[in-house]
Amino acid sequence: MKHQQEINFVSIVIPVYNEEASLPELLERTEMTLSSMGKDYEIILIDDGSRDNSAYLIEQAAAASESHVVGIILNRNYGQHNAIMAGFEYVKGDLIVTLDADLQNPPEEIPRLVAKAAEGYDSVGTVRTDRQDSILRRYPSKIINKIITYSTGVQMNDYGCMLRAYRSHVVQAMLSCHERSTFIPILANGFSRHVVEINVKHNQRAEGKSKYSFINLLNLMFDLLTSMTTAPLRVLSIIGGVILLLGALFGLILLMMSLFYGTEWENNTVLLLFSILFIFIGAQFIGLGILGEYVGRIYSDVRARPRYYVQDIRIGEASQAARKKMRSTL
Ligand code: UDP
Ligand code: MG
Repeated sequence: MKHQQEINFVSIVIPVYNEEASLPELLERTEMTLSSMGKDYEIILIDDGSRDNSAYLIEQAAAASESHVVGIILNRNYGQHNAIMAGFEYVKGDLIVTLDADLQNPPEEIPRLVAKAAEGYDSVGTVRTDRQDSILRRYPSKIINKIITYSTGVQMNDYGCMLRAYRSHVVQAMLSCHERSTFIPILANGFSRHVVEINVKHNQRAEGKSKYSFINLLNLMFDLLTSMTTAPLRVLSIIGGVILLLGALFGLILLMMSLFYGTEWENNTVLLLFSILFIFIGAQFIGLGILGEYVGRIYSDVRARPRYYVQDIRIGEASQAARKKMRSTL
């Protein structure tokens, strides 16, 4: 059961990479939306090594009088998700909303996310209705979403949309993960108790082009896959097993046929060769797969994610008193 939870302070986290064209409008619209909500808020802008004027604009926005902007300037480009992580380090709010700087997700949707989170959800995801991206950008995402849903078992329709809200304890949990490549929405799901998705509008990129080339996208996909599971390593063993079985089957067929039909089958070198080849290849793959299992374990140990994350502790009155006494006698 989830419980209603009040939200008093909202932190907006926006990674910025060469977005000078959309920054002024972004800031204006975000400020406008947030100030009309009647809650405390801050807008954390992370400049991810932009080569245009973005960093300067951010500094200026932070320096303005009564500014709610927190500017974080990174020395070079680290990628969207790392930039967001950098922003997470400085959040003060009890709800954190991530947003893209390119205005594809309208800041006007923020109050709806906040309202949903107040119902007691730990993460609020979003589904882009009527997504305004090119086919080349849309289809890979679709496949990726399917794969993730399949392998995490968490039914989410759209992992790519970064307009999302997280409770501060989820963000703290994410900060305690020290891996280098992360995909934030998936990481967040792992630390959330109640997850929900709402529909949001999606617009065409106002200015400039997507910062993701095909190669970047491929990179992101691997980050995403490896951040979630080491299952692909197991595929090696499975392939190996299948090939080995095929090899054995060929061998068996050869044996049976030559027993029943005699000499013309005994000299069937093609089948013999295939049988031997498949058995060896299969064995090799299985060997690789076993290696992979070790590598997978090393990977998850190196990543050193917290084994569990305690969201809340409730201690009964009597135990509390007893614990206090214990501490004071020590
Ligand atoms: N971004 C970033 N660092 C990067 C690439 C992108 O901080 O290396 C930011 C970018 O400024 C934008 C958000 O991440 O605010 C999403 O980028 P983009 O709109 O290019 O991605 P798409 O909408 O194509 O997924
Ligand atoms: Mg975009």
